[in-house]
Amino acid sequence: MTLKLFRNARIYTPLDKGRPLRGSEMNQIYSEEKGAILIRDGYIESIGQELEVLKYVTEDALEIDLGGRCVIPGFVDPHTHACFVGTREREFILRLQGASYLEILKMGGGILSTVDKVRSASYDELYTSTEEVVNRALKNGTTSMEIKSGYGLSLDHEVKMLEVIDALKGKPVDIIATFMGAHAVPREYKENPKAYVDLVVEEMIPHIAAKGLAKYCDVFCEESVFSVDDARRILLAARKCGLGLKIHADEVYDLGGAKLAAELKVDSAEHLLAASEEGLKAMAESGVLAVLLPATAFSLRKSYAPARKMIEMGVPVALATDCNPGSCYCESMEMVFRLAILGMGLSMEESLVASTLNAAYAIGMATHVGSLERGKKADFVVLEGETPGIMAYHLGWRNIKEVYKMGQRFSSEV
Ligand SMILES: [Zn+2]
Repeated sequence: MTLKLFRNARIYTPLDKGRPLRGSEMNQIYSEEKGAILIRDGYIESIGQELEVLKYVTEDALEIDLGGRCVIPGFVDPHTHACFVGTREREFILRLQGASYLEILKMGGGILSTVDKVRSASYDELYTSTEEVVNRALKNGTTSMEIKSGYGLSLDHEVKMLEVIDALKGKPVDIIATFMGAHAVPREYKENPKAYVDLVVEEMIPHIAAKGLAKYCDVFCEESVFSVDDARRILLAARKCGLGLKIHADEVYDLGGAKLAAELKVDSAEHLLAASEEGLKAMAESGVLAVLLPATAFSLRKSYAPARKMIEMGVPVALATDCNPGSCYCESMEMVFRLAILGMGLSMEESLVASTLNAAYAIGMATHVGSLERGKKADFVVLEGETPGIMAYHLGWRNIKEVYKMGQRFSSEV
């Protein structure tokens, strides 16, 4: 048994209501100027005003003075493609010269070049490369994250990716795996994409679900990728096999992905840059979480998703990095937190809720993480400043001083 007492902390955390926060709730967070956290065996036993917490200390505890620094919940990154090999820096430069994502895709570059690299990588190579991304995420304050497959695009290679993701769970980052065989149509099915959808539905989903290799299934519903009808078919097959559902919806064009997300009451809909008013309204009505990826819009030099409008409409909003070697090479939730404020117009409180508690709801982890409350894991980040606002205020700097996973320090930077 270990008991740890963190004293002299400025605590900022959302409070869990047993469901994602929405509307004006996203602006309400708990803060304590002179706070403390008591941790037993990695879980929070007591948190709040220091004088109150001290009453619970009835035996020897290891004391750590945080010097009045700000403490927030560890970031939860609910949308990444962190399992890959090789970056695509040169393609980024081409894109700067005007080539569009869909043009690069049509030229057989883009995502398919990562598919080639992942297919030819051994399990060990893929493991090492993914571990590096996860470790960088941890250094940047992410203590729980989701990782999607989707660069294998054949049963064997998708399984290889999901086995790598599985092996990285809890070392020490909590990881949730999502199967995304419907990320792109592989070259060998270029002339017959419907046959690839058949393969995903009839072979991949049942096999992966039966092996327990993924918690969710995701699909890239986009022009020239998978249609709304394909997405519906894939997601319904996944639901039948017991998987949770996610959808990359309306990123480039409004195909009706947001409406489909509402129709199927998926666990989360992602991107939504081009989603229609009608689609967003349907999402608000069915309580579907929006996972927004402002670093992707920033990296692609596109307009941000209409986050303010979504919050005002009552759509619960979460934030994620979308970390991938193509459209957004970013492991930093601090960067995402910053862009949500400076780019999308969220308040400090909204950005914190969206990058911790609501993000935990997006991947079904809120029972254990996402807020600093009694009974949850002692996953937290110590910042250089006095409020979470430091991360948007102090630009070009990693304001994360220390990262704790279950009360244990795993990273200290600056
Ligand atoms: Zn994505």
